[in-house]
Amino acid sequence: MASDEEQHKTLEKYVKWSAQNGIPEKQIELLDSKGLLKREPNLHAYSGLYCSRDVSTDYGIFTKELQKESEKNGTKFLFNKEVTDTNDDSEVQLTFSDDSTLTAKFLINCSGGNSLDIAKKCNLAKEYDDLHFRGEY
Ligand SMILES: Cc1cc2nc3c(=O)[nH]c(=O)nc-3n(C[C@H](O)[C@H](O)[C@H](O)COP(=O)(O)OP(=O)(O)OC[C@H]3O[C@@H](n4cnc5c(N)ncnc54)[C@H](O)[C@@H]3O)c2cc1C
Repeated sequence: MASDEEQHKTLEKYVKWSAQNGIPEKQIELLDSKGLLKREPNLHAYSGLYCSRDVSTDYGIFTKELQKESEKNGTKFLFNKEVTDTNDDSEVQLTFSDDSTLTAKFLINCSGGNSLDIAKKCNLAKEYDDLHFRGEY
């Protein structure tokens, strides 16, 4: 929302940015005060930006760039390897579905809904359980 001409100029800048970031023209509208009232009768402002979608981030590109940055710092990514077993000695040994193994001194477990199962294989968090349920939007 803009309450004066100066703020309106900021919204105009956002319209340019949205085009540069790939939001289709039809999905973003810069409305004057009348246009705003038409859309929402309680909205009294100089102008406003209406965008009919909630996100404009391409998470695929974002994640790939993050991967490149991480690889520059020495990270090696392993794909299509499912952890099937672990041990809980001073060094963690992971066993994968293709029977290969990997030993590490330190493990960050971030396997989403599987995290607790993997933690339990390391004899951790035995007192917890997780409940997977469907969310309604
Ligand atoms: C339908 C749906 C819609 C959602 N919408 C939104 C949204 O709009 N906004 C929002 O903020 N959040 C949303 N979320 C939630 C969001 O996706 C999660 O909170 C987020 O992805 C969790 O990230 P994570 O890295 O912890 O786990 P995940 O993204 O689940 O990543 C875990 C990874 O570990 C891998 N893995 C699992 N088990 C093993 C194993 N044994 N060996 C090897 N790898 C393994 C998996 O393959 C996966 O790649 C949504 C979730 C769902 C299901």
